[in-house]
Amino acid sequence: SNSVTLARANRRVTLLEKAAQLGGRAMTSHESGFAFNLGPHALYAEGAATRTFKELGIQYSAHRPQIGGFALIEGRRETFPAGALSLMTTGLFTATEKFEAAQWLAKLGKLDASDLHGVTLHDWLASNIRHLRVRQLIQALARLTTYAGDAQRQSAAAAIRQIQLGISSGVRYLDGGWQSLVDGLRDAAIKAGATIETGQRAQSIIVEQGHVRGAALADGAIHSADAVIIAASPAEVVSITESFVSSDWLRQLKALIPVKAACLDVALARLPQPDARFALGIDQPLYFSVHSATAQLAPANGALIHVAKYLMTDETTSAKSLEAELEQVLDTMQPGWREVLVKRRFMPALTVNHALVTTATTGRPEVAVPEIAGLFIAGDWVGAEGQLADVSVASGSAAAHAAQAR
Ligand SMILES: Cc1cc2nc3c(=O)[nH]c(=O)nc-3n(C[C@H](O)[C@H](O)[C@H](O)COP(=O)(O)OP(=O)(O)OC[C@H]3O[C@@H](n4cnc5c(N)ncnc54)[C@H](O)[C@@H]3O)c2cc1C
Repeated sequence: SNSVTLARANRRVTLLEKAAQLGGRAMTSHESGFAFNLGPHALYAEGAATRTFKELGIQYSAHRPQIGGFALIEGRRETFPAGALSLMTTGLFTATEKFEAAQWLAKLGKLDASDLHGVTLHDWLASNIRHLRVRQLIQALARLTTYAGDAQRQSAAAAIRQIQLGISSGVRYLDGGWQSLVDGLRDAAIKAGATIETGQRAQSIIVEQGHVRGAALADGAIHSADAVIIAASPAEVVSITESFVSSDWLRQLKALIPVKAACLDVALARLPQPDARFALGIDQPLYFSVHSATAQLAPANGALIHVAKYLMTDETTSAKSLEAELEQVLDTMQPGWREVLVKRRFMPALTVNHALVTTATTGRPEVAVPEIAGLFIAGDWVGAEGQLADVSVASGSAAAHAAQAR
Protein backbone atom coordinates (compact mmCIF):
# COMPACT_ATOMS: atom_id res chain seq x y z
CA SER A 1 0.00 0.00 0.00
CA ASN A 2 2.89 2.40 0.68
CA SER A 3 4.14 1.86 -2.90
CA VAL A 4 0.74 2.92 -4.25
CA THR A 5 0.66 6.05 -2.10
CA LEU A 6 4.20 7.10 -3.03
CA ALA A 7 3.94 6.29 -6.74
CA ARG A 8 0.69 8.28 -6.94
CA ALA A 9 2.56 11.20 -5.37
CA ASN A 10 4.94 10.99 -8.37
CA ARG A 11 7.81 9.49 -6.41
CA ARG A 12 10.05 6.98 -8.18
CA VAL A 13 9.27 3.74 -6.33
CA THR A 14 10.98 0.34 -6.47
CA LEU A 15 9.42 -2.48 -4.43
CA LEU A 16 11.87 -5.29 -3.65
CA GLU A 17 10.37 -8.65 -2.65
CA LYS A 18 12.66 -11.54 -1.80
CA ALA A 19 10.03 -14.22 -2.54
CA ALA A 20 9.02 -15.27 -6.04
CA GLN A 21 5.58 -13.72 -5.56
CA LEU A 22 4.08 -10.82 -3.64
CA GLY A 23 1.85 -11.30 -0.62
CA GLY A 24 3.89 -12.49 2.35
CA ARG A 25 1.52 -13.85 4.98
CA ALA A 26 -1.46 -12.43 3.05
CA MET A 27 -0.81 -14.76 0.12
CA THR A 28 -3.39 -17.30 -1.06
CA SER A 29 -2.47 -20.65 -2.67
CA HIS A 30 -4.83 -22.11 -5.24
CA GLU A 31 -5.07 -25.89 -5.37
CA SER A 32 -7.72 -28.15 -6.94
CA GLY A 33 -10.08 -25.18 -7.19
CA PHE A 34 -9.70 -24.23 -3.49
CA ALA A 35 -8.23 -20.93 -2.30
CA PHE A 36 -6.05 -21.44 0.79
CA ASN A 37 -5.19 -18.38 2.79
CA LEU A 38 -2.25 -18.93 5.12
CA GLY A 39 -4.43 -19.94 8.07
CA PRO A 40 -7.70 -18.16 8.89
CA HIS A 41 -7.76 -14.57 7.63
CA ALA A 42 -10.53 -12.07 8.36
CA LEU A 43 -10.45 -8.37 7.49
CA TYR A 44 -11.75 -5.96 10.13
CA ALA A 45 -14.55 -3.94 8.54
CA GLU A 46 -13.61 -0.76 10.40
CA GLY A 47 -9.87 -1.30 10.69
CA ALA A 48 -7.05 0.74 9.18
CA ALA A 49 -6.60 -1.74 6.32
CA THR A 50 -10.21 -1.47 5.10
CA ARG A 51 -10.06 2.31 5.46
CA THR A 52 -6.82 2.56 3.47
CA PHE A 53 -7.98 0.19 0.72
CA LYS A 54 -11.10 2.35 0.32
CA GLU A 55 -9.00 5.52 0.14
CA LEU A 56 -6.74 3.91 -2.47
CA GLY A 57 -9.74 2.59 -4.45
CA ILE A 58 -8.67 -1.07 -4.18
CA GLN A 59 -11.56 -3.30 -5.29
CA TYR A 60 -12.33 -6.60 -3.60
CA SER A 61 -15.36 -8.68 -2.79
CA ALA A 62 -16.02 -9.58 0.85
CA HIS A 63 -18.76 -10.98 3.07
CA ARG A 64 -19.53 -10.86 6.77
CA PRO A 65 -19.54 -14.33 8.38
CA GLN A 66 -22.70 -15.26 10.28
CA ILE A 67 -22.37 -14.70 14.00
CA GLY A 68 -22.93 -17.80 16.09
CA GLY A 69 -22.19 -21.48 16.01
CA PHE A 70 -20.66 -23.58 18.73
CA ALA A 71 -18.62 -23.22 21.87
CA LEU A 72 -16.17 -26.07 22.48
CA ILE A 73 -16.05 -26.99 26.14
CA GLU A 74 -14.60 -30.08 27.80
CA GLY A 75 -14.46 -31.77 24.39
CA ARG A 76 -18.16 -31.25 23.57
CA ARG A 77 -20.17 -28.73 21.54
CA GLU A 78 -22.54 -26.21 23.11
CA THR A 79 -24.43 -23.36 21.48
CA PHE A 80 -22.19 -20.29 21.22
CA PRO A 81 -23.74 -17.38 23.17
CA ALA A 82 -23.79 -14.85 20.34
CA GLY A 83 -27.08 -13.13 21.24
CA ALA A 84 -29.91 -13.05 23.77
CA LEU A 85 -31.63 -16.24 22.56
CA SER A 86 -28.48 -18.35 22.25
CA LEU A 87 -27.35 -17.09 25.66
CA MET A 88 -30.64 -18.24 27.19
CA THR A 89 -30.54 -21.68 25.57
CA THR A 90 -26.83 -22.56 25.72
CA GLY A 91 -25.66 -25.36 27.98
CA LEU A 92 -22.36 -23.53 28.41
CA PHE A 93 -23.46 -21.64 31.52
CA THR A 94 -25.48 -22.11 34.69
CA ALA A 95 -28.30 -19.62 35.33
CA THR A 96 -26.12 -17.30 37.45
CA GLU A 97 -23.30 -17.49 34.90
CA LYS A 98 -25.79 -16.56 32.18
CA PHE A 99 -26.78 -13.49 34.15
CA GLU A 100 -23.17 -12.35 34.52
CA ALA A 101 -22.36 -13.20 30.87
CA ALA A 102 -25.35 -11.15 29.68
CA GLN A 103 -24.21 -8.16 31.73
CA TRP A 104 -20.66 -8.35 30.36
CA LEU A 105 -21.68 -8.93 26.75
CA ALA A 106 -23.93 -5.85 27.02
CA LYS A 107 -21.29 -3.57 28.53
CA LEU A 108 -18.11 -4.82 26.82
CA GLY A 109 -18.79 -2.84 23.65
CA LYS A 110 -18.98 0.46 25.56
CA LEU A 111 -16.25 -0.12 28.11
CA ASP A 112 -13.61 2.63 28.25
CA ALA A 113 -10.34 0.67 28.14
CA SER A 114 -8.00 3.67 28.03
CA ASP A 115 -6.86 3.21 31.65
CA LEU A 116 -6.05 -0.47 31.18
CA HIS A 117 -2.76 -0.33 29.25
CA GLY A 118 -0.73 -1.32 32.28
CA VAL A 119 -3.03 -4.19 33.28
CA THR A 120 -2.74 -7.67 31.81
CA LEU A 121 -5.84 -9.27 30.36
CA HIS A 122 -5.45 -12.09 32.86
CA ASP A 123 -5.46 -9.71 35.86
CA TRP A 124 -8.33 -7.65 34.48
CA LEU A 125 -10.47 -10.75 33.95
CA ALA A 126 -9.60 -12.09 37.40
CA SER A 127 -10.48 -8.88 39.21
CA ASN A 128 -13.64 -7.98 37.27
CA ILE A 129 -15.43 -11.17 36.32
CA ARG A 130 -16.73 -13.48 39.03
CA HIS A 131 -17.44 -16.76 37.23
CA LEU A 132 -14.60 -18.73 35.64
CA ARG A 133 -16.74 -19.77 32.67
CA VAL A 134 -17.65 -16.14 31.87
CA ARG A 135 -13.99 -15.16 32.16
CA GLN A 136 -13.16 -17.95 29.74
CA LEU A 137 -15.75 -16.67 27.27
CA ILE A 138 -14.33 -13.12 27.29
CA GLN A 139 -10.80 -14.51 26.98
CA ALA A 140 -11.95 -16.62 24.02
CA LEU A 141 -13.29 -13.45 22.36
CA ALA A 142 -9.93 -11.77 22.96
CA ARG A 143 -8.16 -14.72 21.33
CA LEU A 144 -10.58 -14.71 18.40
CA THR A 145 -10.03 -11.03 17.69
CA THR A 146 -6.31 -10.67 18.48
CA TYR A 147 -5.00 -14.26 17.95
CA ALA A 148 -3.05 -13.88 21.19
CA GLY A 149 -3.16 -16.83 23.57
CA ASP A 150 -1.03 -15.22 26.27
CA ALA A 151 -3.41 -13.35 28.62
CA GLN A 152 -0.66 -13.19 31.27
CA ARG A 153 1.27 -10.77 29.05
CA GLN A 154 -1.35 -9.21 26.78
CA SER A 155 -2.53 -5.71 27.64
CA ALA A 156 -6.21 -5.66 28.68
CA ALA A 157 -6.68 -2.36 26.81
CA ALA A 158 -5.50 -3.85 23.51
CA ALA A 159 -7.64 -6.96 23.94
CA ILE A 160 -10.81 -5.06 24.88
CA ARG A 161 -10.42 -2.54 22.03
CA GLN A 162 -10.02 -5.34 19.51
CA ILE A 163 -13.06 -7.22 20.89
CA GLN A 164 -14.99 -3.96 20.50
CA LEU A 165 -13.86 -3.66 16.86
CA GLY A 166 -14.91 -7.28 16.32
CA ILE A 167 -18.36 -6.97 17.84
CA SER A 168 -19.26 -3.56 16.38
CA SER A 169 -18.81 -3.92 12.64
CA GLY A 170 -17.28 -7.40 12.53
CA VAL A 171 -14.96 -8.94 10.01
CA ARG A 172 -15.15 -9.92 6.36
CA TYR A 173 -14.00 -13.06 4.56
CA LEU A 174 -12.72 -12.33 1.06
CA ASP A 175 -13.80 -14.02 -2.18
CA GLY A 176 -10.69 -15.61 -3.69
CA GLY A 177 -8.77 -15.07 -0.44
CA TRP A 178 -6.46 -12.26 0.69
CA GLN A 179 -4.49 -12.59 -2.54
CA SER A 180 -7.25 -10.45 -4.07
CA LEU A 181 -6.06 -7.56 -1.88
CA VAL A 182 -2.43 -8.22 -2.77
CA ASP A 183 -3.26 -8.35 -6.50
CA GLY A 184 -5.34 -5.16 -6.26
CA LEU A 185 -2.49 -3.31 -4.54
CA ARG A 186 0.07 -4.68 -7.02
CA ASP A 187 -2.01 -3.55 -10.02
CA ALA A 188 -2.56 -0.10 -8.49
CA ALA A 189 1.16 0.29 -7.74
CA ILE A 190 2.17 -0.69 -11.29
CA LYS A 191 -0.48 1.57 -12.78
CA ALA A 192 0.86 4.48 -10.73
CA GLY A 193 4.36 3.83 -12.09
CA ALA A 194 6.03 1.74 -9.36
CA THR A 195 8.55 -0.93 -10.35
CA ILE A 196 8.14 -4.31 -8.66
CA GLU A 197 11.08 -6.70 -8.51
CA THR A 198 10.44 -10.16 -7.07
CA GLY A 199 13.18 -12.60 -6.09
CA GLN A 200 15.27 -9.65 -4.85
CA ARG A 201 16.40 -9.65 -1.25
CA ALA A 202 17.43 -6.33 0.28
CA GLN A 203 20.50 -7.18 2.31
CA SER A 204 21.62 -3.87 3.70
CA ILE A 205 21.02 -0.15 3.58
CA ILE A 206 23.45 2.51 2.44
CA VAL A 207 23.89 5.35 4.91
CA GLU A 208 26.01 8.49 4.47
CA GLN A 209 26.37 11.08 7.23
CA GLY A 210 23.19 10.01 8.97
CA HIS A 211 21.09 9.94 5.76
CA VAL A 212 19.89 6.81 4.02
CA ARG A 213 21.06 6.72 0.40
CA GLY A 214 19.64 3.43 -0.83
CA ALA A 215 19.53 -0.33 -0.45
CA ALA A 216 22.02 -3.04 -1.37
CA LEU A 217 20.70 -6.34 -2.70
CA ALA A 218 21.96 -9.82 -1.88
CA ASP A 219 23.58 -10.02 -5.36
CA GLY A 220 25.54 -6.81 -4.71
CA ALA A 221 23.38 -4.51 -6.86
CA ILE A 222 22.61 -1.09 -5.39
CA HIS A 223 19.35 0.87 -5.55
CA SER A 224 19.90 4.55 -4.82
CA ALA A 225 17.05 6.27 -2.98
CA ASP A 226 16.29 9.31 -0.83
CA ALA A 227 14.07 7.23 1.42
CA VAL A 228 13.84 3.53 2.26
CA ILE A 229 10.88 1.75 3.90
CA ILE A 230 11.66 -1.70 5.26
CA ALA A 231 8.40 -3.68 5.52
CA ALA A 232 9.74 -6.96 6.90
CA SER A 233 9.99 -8.84 10.22
CA PRO A 234 11.84 -7.36 13.23
CA ALA A 235 14.61 -9.98 12.78
CA GLU A 236 15.04 -9.00 9.13
CA VAL A 237 15.11 -5.30 10.03
CA VAL A 238 17.76 -6.00 12.67
CA SER A 239 19.88 -7.86 10.11
CA ILE A 240 19.51 -5.11 7.47
CA THR A 241 20.17 -2.15 9.76
CA GLU A 242 22.33 -3.30 12.66
CA SER A 243 25.56 -1.64 11.52
CA PHE A 244 23.89 1.77 11.53
CA VAL A 245 21.35 1.97 14.33
CA SER A 246 21.59 2.37 18.10
CA SER A 247 21.84 -0.65 20.35
CA ASP A 248 18.83 0.64 22.36
CA TRP A 249 16.66 0.54 19.25
CA LEU A 250 17.90 -2.95 18.35
CA ARG A 251 17.12 -4.08 21.90
CA GLN A 252 13.56 -2.76 21.54
CA LEU A 253 13.09 -4.79 18.35
CA LYS A 254 14.60 -7.94 19.83
CA ALA A 255 12.30 -7.70 22.88
CA LEU A 256 9.09 -7.92 20.81
CA ILE A 257 7.06 -11.07 21.48
CA PRO A 258 5.58 -12.77 18.40
CA VAL A 259 1.99 -14.04 18.43
CA LYS A 260 1.86 -17.54 16.94
CA ALA A 261 -0.78 -20.05 15.93
CA ALA A 262 -0.84 -23.68 14.81
CA CYS A 263 -3.04 -23.99 11.73
CA LEU A 264 -4.68 -26.87 9.92
CA ASP A 265 -6.15 -25.79 6.57
CA VAL A 266 -8.47 -28.37 5.04
CA ALA A 267 -10.26 -28.71 1.69
CA LEU A 268 -13.21 -31.13 1.60
CA ALA A 269 -15.25 -32.38 -1.37
CA ARG A 270 -18.36 -31.64 0.71
CA LEU A 271 -19.24 -30.64 4.25
CA PRO A 272 -20.36 -33.70 6.27
CA GLN A 273 -22.24 -31.44 8.75
CA PRO A 274 -23.48 -28.42 6.76
CA ASP A 275 -24.73 -26.57 9.86
CA ALA A 276 -21.50 -26.84 11.86
CA ARG A 277 -19.68 -23.83 10.46
CA PHE A 278 -18.04 -22.09 13.37
CA ALA A 279 -16.71 -23.03 16.79
CA LEU A 280 -14.60 -21.31 19.39
CA GLY A 281 -12.78 -23.10 22.20
CA ILE A 282 -13.81 -21.82 25.64
CA ASP A 283 -11.55 -23.86 27.93
CA GLN A 284 -8.99 -24.49 25.17
CA PRO A 285 -7.51 -21.90 22.76
CA LEU A 286 -9.10 -23.43 19.66
CA TYR A 287 -10.79 -22.05 16.52
CA PHE A 288 -12.79 -23.68 13.73
CA SER A 289 -14.45 -21.92 10.81
CA VAL A 290 -15.76 -22.98 7.41
CA HIS A 291 -14.57 -19.91 5.51
CA SER A 292 -16.09 -21.14 2.23
CA ALA A 293 -19.57 -20.94 3.82
CA THR A 294 -19.16 -17.16 3.69
CA ALA A 295 -16.73 -16.38 0.86
CA GLN A 296 -16.00 -17.90 -2.54
CA LEU A 297 -13.03 -20.12 -1.70
CA ALA A 298 -14.08 -23.58 -2.91
CA PRO A 299 -15.59 -25.24 -5.98
CA ALA A 300 -19.31 -26.19 -5.98
CA ASN A 301 -20.20 -28.36 -2.93
CA GLY A 302 -16.61 -28.15 -1.66
CA ALA A 303 -15.61 -26.66 1.70
CA LEU A 304 -12.52 -24.78 2.82
CA ILE A 305 -12.03 -24.98 6.59
CA HIS A 306 -9.50 -23.31 8.85
CA VAL A 307 -8.77 -24.86 12.24
CA ALA A 308 -6.29 -23.21 14.58
CA LYS A 309 -4.81 -23.24 18.04
CA TYR A 310 -3.69 -19.94 19.54
CA LEU A 311 -0.26 -20.63 21.03
CA MET A 312 1.26 -19.46 24.29
CA THR A 313 4.45 -17.40 24.13
CA ASP A 314 6.40 -20.28 25.66
CA GLU A 315 4.36 -23.06 24.03
CA THR A 316 6.03 -26.45 24.42
CA THR A 317 3.41 -28.74 22.83
CA SER A 318 4.99 -30.85 20.09
CA ALA A 319 3.94 -30.33 16.47
CA LYS A 320 2.53 -33.87 16.44
CA SER A 321 0.30 -33.21 19.46
CA LEU A 322 -0.84 -29.86 18.04
CA GLU A 323 -1.85 -31.53 14.79
CA ALA A 324 -3.74 -34.23 16.72
CA GLU A 325 -5.59 -31.54 18.73
CA LEU A 326 -6.67 -29.77 15.55
CA GLU A 327 -7.79 -33.06 13.97
CA GLN A 328 -9.83 -33.69 17.13
CA VAL A 329 -11.63 -30.38 16.56
CA LEU A 330 -12.50 -31.53 13.04
CA ASP A 331 -13.69 -34.89 14.42
CA THR A 332 -15.99 -33.03 16.83
CA MET A 333 -17.30 -30.52 14.29
CA GLN A 334 -17.23 -32.47 11.03
CA PRO A 335 -17.19 -36.23 11.75
CA GLY A 336 -16.49 -38.06 8.49
CA TRP A 337 -14.18 -35.31 7.19
CA ARG A 338 -11.38 -37.79 6.45
CA GLU A 339 -13.55 -39.62 3.90
CA VAL A 340 -14.12 -36.45 1.86
CA LEU A 341 -10.66 -34.93 2.27
CA VAL A 342 -9.21 -33.33 -0.88
CA LYS A 343 -6.20 -31.54 0.58
CA ARG A 344 -4.81 -30.63 4.00
CA ARG A 345 -1.85 -28.70 5.23
CA PHE A 346 -0.63 -28.29 8.78
CA MET A 347 1.60 -25.46 9.94
CA PRO A 348 2.69 -25.88 13.59
CA ALA A 349 3.79 -22.31 14.41
CA LEU A 350 2.88 -19.50 12.03
CA THR A 351 3.74 -15.99 13.16
CA VAL A 352 0.39 -14.21 13.08
CA ASN A 353 1.93 -10.92 14.09
CA HIS A 354 5.36 -9.96 15.30
CA ALA A 355 4.42 -7.97 18.39
CA LEU A 356 2.03 -8.96 21.12
CA VAL A 357 0.66 -5.78 22.70
CA THR A 358 1.92 -6.17 26.25
CA THR A 359 1.74 -3.91 29.28
CA ALA A 360 5.35 -2.77 28.68
CA THR A 361 5.59 0.97 28.19
CA THR A 362 8.06 0.87 25.26
CA GLY A 363 5.77 -1.25 23.05
CA ARG A 364 5.89 -1.16 19.26
CA PRO A 365 8.51 1.08 17.61
CA GLU A 366 7.67 4.19 15.56
CA VAL A 367 7.89 4.24 11.74
CA ALA A 368 10.85 6.63 11.66
CA VAL A 369 14.11 4.89 12.54
CA PRO A 370 15.93 7.09 15.07
CA GLU A 371 19.13 8.81 13.97
CA ILE A 372 18.90 7.80 10.28
CA ALA A 373 17.11 10.39 8.16
CA GLY A 374 14.95 8.87 5.42
CA LEU A 375 14.78 5.36 6.90
CA PHE A 376 11.36 4.00 7.90
CA ILE A 377 9.89 0.68 8.97
CA ALA A 378 6.42 -0.79 8.50
CA GLY A 379 4.77 -4.03 9.52
CA ASP A 380 2.35 -5.57 12.00
CA TRP A 381 4.77 -4.68 14.79
CA VAL A 382 5.23 -0.95 14.04
CA GLY A 383 3.30 2.11 15.25
CA ALA A 384 0.52 2.58 17.76
CA GLU A 385 -2.62 1.88 15.72
CA GLY A 386 -4.62 -1.35 15.76
CA GLN A 387 -3.82 -5.04 15.63
CA LEU A 388 -2.82 -7.60 12.99
CA ALA A 389 -2.83 -6.55 9.32
CA ASP A 390 -4.36 -3.20 10.32
CA VAL A 391 -1.03 -2.40 12.00
CA SER A 392 0.89 -3.25 8.82
CA VAL A 393 -1.31 -1.07 6.65
CA ALA A 394 -1.46 1.82 9.15
CA SER A 395 2.33 1.83 9.56
CA GLY A 396 2.75 1.45 5.78
CA SER A 397 0.63 4.57 5.23
CA ALA A 398 2.44 6.50 7.95
CA ALA A 399 5.82 5.50 6.49
CA ALA A 400 4.71 6.47 2.97
CA HIS A 401 3.56 9.91 4.11
CA ALA A 402 6.76 10.46 6.08
CA ALA A 403 8.89 9.38 3.08
CA GLN A 404 6.85 11.59 0.76
CA ALA A 405 7.51 14.60 2.97
CA ARG A 406 11.25 14.28 2.34
C1 LIG B 1 -2.33 -17.77 10.53
C2 LIG B 1 -2.50 -16.30 10.35
C3 LIG B 1 -3.74 -15.73 10.50
C4 LIG B 1 -3.90 -14.35 10.36
N1 LIG B 1 -5.14 -13.82 10.47
C5 LIG B 1 -5.32 -12.49 10.34
C6 LIG B 1 -6.62 -11.92 10.41
O1 LIG B 1 -7.61 -12.63 10.57
N2 LIG B 1 -6.75 -10.59 10.30
C7 LIG B 1 -5.67 -9.77 10.11
O2 LIG B 1 -5.84 -8.56 10.02
N3 LIG B 1 -4.42 -10.28 10.02
C8 LIG B 1 -4.23 -11.62 10.13
N4 LIG B 1 -2.98 -12.16 10.04
C9 LIG B 1 -1.84 -11.25 9.98
C10 LIG B 1 -1.55 -10.76 8.58
O3 LIG B 1 -1.43 -11.84 7.67
C11 LIG B 1 -0.24 -10.01 8.65
O4 LIG B 1 -0.29 -9.05 9.67
C12 LIG B 1 0.07 -9.27 7.36
O5 LIG B 1 -0.07 -10.11 6.25
C13 LIG B 1 1.50 -8.77 7.47
O6 LIG B 1 1.85 -8.12 6.30
P1 LIG B 1 3.30 -7.49 6.15
O7 LIG B 1 3.40 -7.06 4.74
O8 LIG B 1 3.53 -6.51 7.22
O9 LIG B 1 4.31 -8.68 6.47
P2 LIG B 1 4.53 -10.02 5.65
O10 LIG B 1 3.24 -10.52 5.14
O11 LIG B 1 5.33 -10.90 6.53
O12 LIG B 1 5.38 -9.56 4.39
C14 LIG B 1 6.73 -9.24 4.46
C15 LIG B 1 7.27 -9.43 3.06
O13 LIG B 1 8.60 -8.94 3.02
C16 LIG B 1 9.38 -9.86 2.29
N5 LIG B 1 10.76 -9.67 2.76
C17 LIG B 1 11.23 -9.94 4.01
N6 LIG B 1 12.53 -9.60 4.07
C18 LIG B 1 12.88 -9.11 2.87
C19 LIG B 1 14.09 -8.59 2.33
N7 LIG B 1 15.21 -8.52 3.05
N8 LIG B 1 14.10 -8.17 1.05
C20 LIG B 1 12.97 -8.23 0.28
N9 LIG B 1 11.80 -8.73 0.75
C21 LIG B 1 11.76 -9.14 2.03
C22 LIG B 1 8.79 -11.21 2.63
O14 LIG B 1 9.13 -12.19 1.65
C23 LIG B 1 7.31 -10.90 2.65
O15 LIG B 1 6.70 -11.04 1.39
C24 LIG B 1 -2.78 -13.53 10.12
C25 LIG B 1 -1.52 -14.11 9.93
C26 LIG B 1 -1.38 -15.48 10.03
C27 LIG B 1 -0.03 -16.10 9.81
